[in-house]
Amino acid sequence: MAERIDGMAMRAAILDETRAEAARLLEKHGRKPGLATILVGDNPASVSYVSLKVKTALALGFHEIQDNQPADVSEAALLARIEAYNRDPAVHGILVQLPLPPHINESRVIHAIDPDKDVDGFHPVNLGRLVIGGEAVRFSPCTPAGILEMLVRSGTPTCGAEVTIIGRSAIVGRPLSIMLGQKGVDATVTLVHSRSANIREHCRRADILVAAAGSPRMVKADWVRPGATVIDVGVNRVGVNPTTGKAILAGDVDFDAVAEVAGRITPVPGGVGPMTIAMLMKNTMRSAWLHAGERP
Ligand code: NAP
Repeated sequence: MAERIDGMAMRAAILDETRAEAARLLEKHGRKPGLATILVGDNPASVSYVSLKVKTALALGFHEIQDNQPADVSEAALLARIEAYNRDPAVHGILVQLPLPPHINESRVIHAIDPDKDVDGFHPVNLGRLVIGGEAVRFSPCTPAGILEMLVRSGTPTCGAEVTIIGRSAIVGRPLSIMLGQKGVDATVTLVHSRSANIREHCRRADILVAAAGSPRMVKADWVRPGATVIDVGVNRVGVNPTTGKAILAGDVDFDAVAEVAGRITPVPGGVGPMTIAMLMKNTMRSAWLHAGERP
């Protein structure tokens, strides 16, 4: 039976470390890490993500600006808010909760954020720095960074490991494939997608299998090499609990069957999801150190 990788416990440990670092920054430089969180409209999922981010930042002792804008805010007004945070020396991280309403061009908004305050790691400059690697890297996108952190903290070796990633999105699969191939991480990466042939065979070869396709329970037990580490990024709503009215979630991995074969596995929920917010806080902390002239 696979060992379960506990994302909640890992998040708690990372947040404890970040809280201690924030206190050290305050003592040494007399400033708090500053995060501006911009929410446009009242999409329930976005409201709940943002409130968790705000609550977490405050609990770490960050300077947190919660900037809620109406759903009909103009693109020009939103860009002006971002420009103000770009110039504000008390702000080290700017987060715009996506998706944005259709009248706002998401790409223009992401491009407007100062790359040195882009703690989501979505700005093309930061993706370019990621491709260059080494000292050039400033902020890695939070979900792939959380996956890497899970591998390290669970004691899963990456050097020389065969990794197969299912899914090539710009926020998960593609940046993760680059990060796993960096010097120092040293994995051999296969990236598969909806047009790939022989997906099962690519998966069976993997020492580490990452499923980020958004397809409920697609990874079956016979896709997994015995003893492999399986990271399930998928969050799929597969029904509604009639008693609580809450969504029933499933990952991209057929958890119960795969857990019989794998060496380590992440659950959904409680696996990769909690790591994403921890990495956002870590990126903001890193930005605050860099703005204070220190390399963390
Ligand atoms: P996305 O943009 O929809 O991309 C999905 C990728 O998977 C695409 O590259 C697609 O291939 C590939 N794919 C889809 N079905 C496939 C199949 N049957 N076989 C092989 N490849 C397939 O999704 P995303 O934003 O990366 O998210 C993926 C999943 O992760 C979703 O369930 C999402 O909710 C979850 N997620 C979780 C977190 C977290 O923090 N836990 C964060 C982000 C996303 P093509 O490119 O060929 O279309």
